[in-house]
Amino acid sequence: MNFALTRFILHLGLSCEKPRNGKSYGFLLLNPKKRPFSSAAVPPAQKTGEELLVVVGGGAAGVYGAIRAKTVAPHLNVLVIEKGKLLSKVKISGGGRCNVTNGHYTENLILAEHYPRGHRELRGSFFSMHSPMDTMTWFSEHGVKLKTEDDGRVFPISDSSSSIIDCLLFEAKQKGVLIQTGKAVTSASRDVGGNFLLKAGKRTTNYMENLKADYLLIASGSSRQGYVLATQLGHSIVDPVPSLFTFKIEDARLAKLSGVTFPKVRVKLKLENVQTNIPQLTQVGPMLVTHWGLSGPAILRLSAWGARHLFSSDYKGDLLVDFIPDIKMEDVKSILMKQKHQFTKQKLLNACPLEFGIVKRFWKYLLDREGVDADILWASISNNSLIAIASLLKHCMFRVTGKGQFKDEFVTAGGVPLSEISLGTMESKIQPHLFFAGEVLNVDGVTGGFNFQGLS
Ligand SMILES: Cc1cc2nc3c(=O)[nH]c(=O)nc-3n(C[C@H](O)[C@H](O)[C@H](O)COP(=O)(O)OP(=O)(O)OC[C@H]3O[C@@H](n4cnc5c(N)ncnc54)[C@H](O)[C@@H]3O)c2cc1C
Repeated sequence: MNFALTRFILHLGLSCEKPRNGKSYGFLLLNPKKRPFSSAAVPPAQKTGEELLVVVGGGAAGVYGAIRAKTVAPHLNVLVIEKGKLLSKVKISGGGRCNVTNGHYTENLILAEHYPRGHRELRGSFFSMHSPMDTMTWFSEHGVKLKTEDDGRVFPISDSSSSIIDCLLFEAKQKGVLIQTGKAVTSASRDVGGNFLLKAGKRTTNYMENLKADYLLIASGSSRQGYVLATQLGHSIVDPVPSLFTFKIEDARLAKLSGVTFPKVRVKLKLENVQTNIPQLTQVGPMLVTHWGLSGPAILRLSAWGARHLFSSDYKGDLLVDFIPDIKMEDVKSILMKQKHQFTKQKLLNACPLEFGIVKRFWKYLLDREGVDADILWASISNNSLIAIASLLKHCMFRVTGKGQFKDEFVTAGGVPLSEISLGTMESKIQPHLFFAGEVLNVDGVTGGFNFQGLS
């Protein structure tokens, strides 16, 4: 999705004429029950001379796209059709806080590196049209105060996604965007005059409404229906696979560490079906132990870069973890030797070297995993055991046996290929006046606010 839909809007802005009869259809949004949406309620372009943009999907990409369309082309009729609830993913995003963008990256090149699908295509001027700063300015100007956390993630200061939702819905209403929920667009085609012919209906009834639109924006997220619409209009679809998930690791002792966090680890993913060295399959960052495996930004980033390979290897592979990436192996050994000579009379368990910055529970895990009795004195530990512990700290291997089932920050890799759209306008190269925005495209970012920022 995208808060960066400027380019799509610029195109529309050029093609929209002033309405001849000056009618406003904002009442449809204000009082949808009185004037329910139907092909009769929405004025077809050919009757009034006004043009209609239909937006499929009321997620962040669809709603923001609709607002931007009305901003630069106020006389365009803009209708959002949402089959479920408006902005439902925004609601749960960022743990309910909504991480709207990332404030640490201003360079286009570096920003683009945060998109496992899209990093090559987004390197150019893509983000110049709508940068993270533009996203922040837009929300600030529309009454949402934001804060940037140490890692660059930007949230509303309310720490509630409702601030973002309220802002977007208020703005949509102000601008006269028409919104209809509870209806799905099920098919799309074009007539000889170039109009889009759409069918929309409720799941509970067989009745289908027919709609004619001058412009179509497909912002249907990862819904299968959205992919069907795209293919009906001649587009291809890169097979959708999950991205941004946690790793399942079957290790009862590790599970006991659930809740332990590591502020900085280096993780490397080894997959049997990947023979070449892919730099992005090594990541540095925070990691979290859960009761069934490993999570946290470093793991989520690995899952994103490895999404396709992991899918084809049935989510099985080896994970190599360096728990203290800032300390060299030789230094780790020296620290352990020094500890042995300095704390001769103390039990191993009670005197973990402070330099490692690890919690006692994890220290115990390492000793147990190496088969070293935690209650022996430092004086009694063999040098070989110390080397083995150093090795575990620097190269600890875990077998990944699957992917987390919880949709912590789940996004979908795959969708309409970027090669089939013009990135300057987000218009289809196959069908004029057809636009795409958001997760329906084959673009996805790593965790940290990059998805809301970049999936235009
Ligand atoms: C738990 C969770 C937390 C996340 N947190 C963050 C975060 O903090 N920061 C961040 O950057 N990203 C986050 N993401 C990712 C982000 O939410 C998505 O990238 C983004 O919501 C995609 O927006 P979209 O509008 O393209 O798709 P969606 O939000 O999926 O919206 C598409 C909409 O289209 C509707 N639709 C589909 N087909 C049809 C049809 N045929 N007719 C009518 N309606 C249709 C759907 O019902 C849906 O409402 C998170 C994702 C999840 C799951």
